[in-house]
Amino acid sequence: MTLSRKELLDIIASEIVVCIKCRLSKTRKNAVPGEGSPDSQIMFIGEGPGQREDVEGRPFVGQAGKFLETLLSETCLVRDDNFICNIVRCRPPSNRQPLPDEIRACTPYLDRQIRAIQPKVIVTLGNCSTGYIFSKAGLSFSSITQVHGRLYEKSILHVTVTVFPTFHPAAALYNAKYKEKLIEDFQVLKSELLKREFLSRSASH
Ligand code: URA
Repeated sequence: MTLSRKELLDIIASEIVVCIKCRLSKTRKNAVPGEGSPDSQIMFIGEGPGQREDVEGRPFVGQAGKFLETLLSETCLVRDDNFICNIVRCRPPSNRQPLPDEIRACTPYLDRQIRAIQPKVIVTLGNCSTGYIFSKAGLSFSSITQVHGRLYEKSILHVTVTVFPTFHPAAALYNAKYKEKLIEDFQVLKSELLKREFLSRSASH
């Protein structure tokens, strides 16, 4: 029996919400499996849940999420039509960066979501998710500053995908320079999506 994308995603989410594979499970309020359409052509991957996400069990619902939604609407993308998730699914204490063993424990969930959804484009937000996806794609990675705003056509987990790395939306909250760069990068993304007819032509006006 072949399961549908939705069924696969529901199974993965049901495992994530009870996961105790790493120490982050001890301090979380809620795990955050990720959300969006099972038929998403575009997947957005952040770093890890923050305070608001931990309370609500949903990704990008705090300040950084508000800015991400602004970027999405300027790109003529509808949040619910895409899939939004993180590298780790439980909030790291005090919003510290996830540790390598936490990333190792958690990313099999991401890999399964990528295989289930088979997105055409993966947008990585910040160093953490870009580093992970670049290593899966066999690309070398030094920092987001070096690689952002460009398209990388690759095969990841046997899925042919365009990787589009950009800065983390939270960076824009404390530095206007990153805000501008994010806005510029999302314009690049928008023209690529228009070219591929992932957005309707009316989106260009
Ligand atoms: N930052 C992230 O990386 N992910 C979220 O879900 C929220 C903030």
